[in-house]
Amino acid sequence: MKPFDYRRASDAAGAAALVAEHPGAAFLGGGTNLVDHMKLGVAAPDMLVDITHLPMDRVEALPEGEGGVSIGANVRNSEAAAHPLVRERYPVLSQALLSGASGQLRNAATTGGNLLQRTRCVYFQDTGTPCNKREPGSGCSALEGYQRYHAVFGASPDCVATHPSDMAVALVALDARVVVTDAAGGERRIPVAELHRLPGEAPEQDTVLSRGDLITAVELPEMPMAARARYRKIRDRASFAFALVSAAVGLELAADGTVADVRIALGGVAHKPWRALLAEEALRGSAATEAGFAAAAEAELSEARPLPGNVFKLELVRAAVTETLGEVAAELRGEGEL
Ligand SMILES: Cc1cc2nc3c(=O)[nH]c(=O)nc-3n(C[C@H](O)[C@H](O)[C@H](O)COP(=O)(O)OP(=O)(O)OC[C@H]3O[C@@H](n4cnc5c(N)ncnc54)[C@H](O)[C@@H]3O)c2cc1C
Ligand code: SF4
Repeated sequence: MKPFDYRRASDAAGAAALVAEHPGAAFLGGGTNLVDHMKLGVAAPDMLVDITHLPMDRVEALPEGEGGVSIGANVRNSEAAAHPLVRERYPVLSQALLSGASGQLRNAATTGGNLLQRTRCVYFQDTGTPCNKREPGSGCSALEGYQRYHAVFGASPDCVATHPSDMAVALVALDARVVVTDAAGGERRIPVAELHRLPGEAPEQDTVLSRGDLITAVELPEMPMAARARYRKIRDRASFAFALVSAAVGLELAADGTVADVRIALGGVAHKPWRALLAEEALRGSAATEAGFAAAAEAELSEARPLPGNVFKLELVRAAVTETLGEVAAELRGEGEL
């Protein structure tokens, strides 16, 4: 491992300024992703700016009138999942968090670090192979290689990787936003749906953040359908495995039983959490039936461009969308699970 400097800043703006001023610096959250990458030689920062002591460690209700809940960037994944405000108002977020990694990892991983964890593409983590994301211009080994965990939506000839976070998928379905402090001390909010990028010709850029931008919190708006929204994760084994496909689904039914509103976000299928806008559009105003849910899944799949090694994901998307919508609809009608 390359030697590196270790710093702590006294506040968020100071931490942002330290990273902005040092091109080789990186924020250190729980370290469960970054430190692994340092050991593998995937990342070689010459300075770590530890942010874990900064006061971004609370889950709290947003002020009266704004509704919603704020989760500090340093709140550990296990703490966020267990917090009463999250469990009562946004159980889909608890489900997504608890489906990720393992208990030990969730005790260490932070909200900010989880959002900014990097792809689990095997070639990205193997410095002996070409990878445009790790080394721009070197090529994409996955195009002719192992594709099981790779994208079926929104990929480019330069990168077909997926974003690995379960939490981020639920946050997209919940219309959450991140609060960001920049090096000049300015604060701005970015919808989580716009935080991560599609790869295009610059797969080395995972997000729209600039150097030194520090995530200080995630804000969840008030959303009545959130209380019944659900997360479903399909994976190779029941624990310690990333999503092949996942779905975060929220539904609101009108008095006549049609779909008044809906949110569907998919994980494991794209370079960013994938908001299934075509499926949502197909569903709004239509009957909340199994056939309607299946048609919505097909509408979204019209955009899919699978690789030879992951065509099977289309069936998983179909199942995840249709069955999760069916479960939420049945619960809303008081029928229990279908
Ligand atoms: C074996 C294993 C299995 C896993 N399985 C899953 C899974 O199934 N689902 C899942 O979602 N995740 C899974 N994970 C990933 C895990 O969730 C992440 O490693 C973790 O969430 C990262 O959080 P961290 O605080 O440790 O981040 P760090 O490693 O500290 O940081 C990650 C990145 O974020 C940056 N960063 C950290 N905090 C901030 C901030 N506040 N503002 C700006 N930048 C910041 C760092 O500079 C770094 O680039 C798994 C990990 C392992 C090792
Ligand atoms: S899919 Fe992306 S991360 Fe994986 S090898 Fe290709 S360029 Fe690298």
